[in-house]
Parts: sequence; structure tokens; C-alpha cells
Amino acid sequence: MKESINQDVMKQLNAIKVFSYIREQGKATRKQIEAAMDLSWGAVSNITARLLEKGYLVESKGEKGSANGSGSGRIPSFLAVNDRQYYVLGVDINITRLTVELVNLKGESVRQWSGEPDYRSSDALLTGVQDLLQRVIGECSGDVILGIGVAMQGIVDARNGISISLPQCPGWQDIPLAALLESWFGRPVYLEHDPNCVLRAEVQDRPRGNLLLLRIDKGIGMALLSEGRIFTGPGMLEIAHTIVVPHGAKCSCGGEGCLEAYVSEEGLSLLSGIAFPAAAERARSGDPAILALFGNMALYLGVAINNILRLFKADEIILCGDMMRYRDLFLDQVRQWLAGNSFCREPETLKISFSENERAAYGAALMAIPKVIENLNI
Ligand SMILES: [Zn+2]
Repeated sequence: MKESINQDVMKQLNAIKVFSYIREQGKATRKQIEAAMDLSWGAVSNITARLLEKGYLVESKGEKGSANGSGSGRIPSFLAVNDRQYYVLGVDINITRLTVELVNLKGESVRQWSGEPDYRSSDALLTGVQDLLQRVIGECSGDVILGIGVAMQGIVDARNGISISLPQCPGWQDIPLAALLESWFGRPVYLEHDPNCVLRAEVQDRPRGNLLLLRIDKGIGMALLSEGRIFTGPGMLEIAHTIVVPHGAKCSCGGEGCLEAYVSEEGLSLLSGIAFPAAAERARSGDPAILALFGNMALYLGVAINNILRLFKADEIILCGDMMRYRDLFLDQVRQWLAGNSFCREPETLKISFSENERAAYGAALMAIPKVIENLNI
């Protein structure tokens, strides 16, 4: 009995390894799989037959004469991941916007949806997420959705699927978000801190080495790519509530002088006493008091970037989030500050780029796909 269980487990593990290999390669012949995976021809034939039968793979015939230049004999056929039928949903629960993307197992985005979040209370926000996902899943009724990846703002315990806090949303505390969504939608749910998801989407098409990403909207979040790997761990890299002014401005977390109290839409709104977009418009029309707040924001953002670069040597910084729509009000000052103060490195070698349409939902789906594949029943 025990032996047969072990055999089943091995079969499943090998099937997942074969599927992941084909996914990484784009396409592969059975011969290539046999050589790369150290499996017998019989095992490769069995596994690929099961993967084809379940629709996880598709097979395409090679062209006559193209394989190995032989021009005669059997033409090997290629196996590739099916880009239809099976999907993962990525969700970005952002205070500015709710976004959902349908992503196939190749990692290609197929469809997108968005909705307005209501963050007046935790119940309102949860109901909004539930309604949007219900609509999306209803519209995808012909597709198999294998799992859901969620990009979440605030403090996140990704391992346990818990959204620990979202200071801008009253009552949002220790929400077992993954378990809740699993109970609503009957699919595995994987939670991630939203800047990690934006970073994952950024490096999908253009892999890079060491990168710092700051997502600034109603709050501020940070992610790091270190030698090609995203830095993850509970409670790590919580840049938002690092202190830049001891006993400074009140922050939504209850603390004082946090970076987020000066460098975020919510912070600028509290400091100016005006809703954020209106405050930004006033600054653009020359209101000196609000321009001074943007000046402070540039200073503290520059300080934060400088301090991070002392601890972590990034080759590139990506600034993203809703705040980038107003970068004319602060970015030159950030650059000037960095150029004047970064004594440990040549500022001109540091590339600062932007992403206005950051894709946290897409990144959440990309991060969920390997976990979904591990649990495929093959
Ligand atoms: Zn704070």
C-alpha cells in the first residue's frame, strides 16, 4: 500500500517536472524531454500522454526535413503548454483601483477587468472584491480557472494568506484573505504583497539583476529584485512606516513622521487638508503652500531612496503607482537631491524608470502559476 502511494507521488512529481520543463522551454520533443529529465522513454511517453489527454499540453507536428535535417524517417512532434482551457486569475486589490487579469498557463494575459474599490470599511471593500470576482468568473464560465493570485497593499503575511493591515481602510485588520476567497470561489488562492507583483510583471519580458521598485499611490510600497530573485518574507521591506521625521506628521498607521505621511496621496491629502487630486491641481496652478508639500515629498523620497541604496546596491529604480501621473510636481527635485547626495555611487549610472500602467494583477497571476502547477492533478 505504502509503496503504491509512493509510486503515485513519484508519478505526479515527474509529471509536474515534465510540464514545468516544457513550459520553461516553450516547446520540446519527447526525445529532448527524455534527455533533459533523466526519465525513461516509457515514462516520458506515459506522462506526456496524460498531460495531452487532460489538455495541459498541445502537440504540433514538426515540418518534414526540418528536424535534424534528416528529411526522412519519423518526424518528431513538439509539445507545448496549451494556451487555452486552463487559466489563473490575478487580482490587484488597490485602494485606487481593483483590477483582475485572466492569464493562461504560458503566462500570457488574455483579458482584463477593473472596478472601483469602496474602502470606507473592510466589509465594503471585501464585498466589492467578491462582486467583481463573481462577475469575472461568470464571464469565464467556459474556461477552467485553476487558482487565484492576489496582490494586496498594506502589511501582508503572504505565507499564511493574511492581510495584516491596510491603514487606509477602517476595520481592515488580520483579514484571512486567501481563506475567505477560497471559501467563496472554491479555488486555491495565493496572496502576495503588491509591489512584489508589480516587480514580477516588470521582469517577465525583460529579466534584470538588482532592481528597486517603489509603488506610490495612496500609500507607498517597495520591492527588491536581488540577483534576479524577488526578495520576499513576512513583514519585510515595509518602507512605508520607516520614520523620516521623528515626532513628525501623523500617519494613518497611528505613528508619527513615517515616510508614508509625506510621500503618498493620503499623506499629502492629510497635510494639505484637501482631497489629493484637487491638491495636485492647486500645486500645478502655483499654490505655494501645496508646492512646498510636494517639495517636502521630493526631499523625503530622495532621502528614502538614498538610504535604501546604502543598504542595497540597485542598478535600476522603477517608480510606479498613481502618483506618477503627478511626477511633474516632484521628480526633478528627487533627481537633483540624489545627484547631490549619493556619495557612494555615480548617480548617472543609476537608471530611474517609470511604469504608469503597472500590472500588479498580472504579476500576481504569474507568481501564482508555479504554485498552481505544483498542485495540478495529472
Ligand atoms: Zn506610518
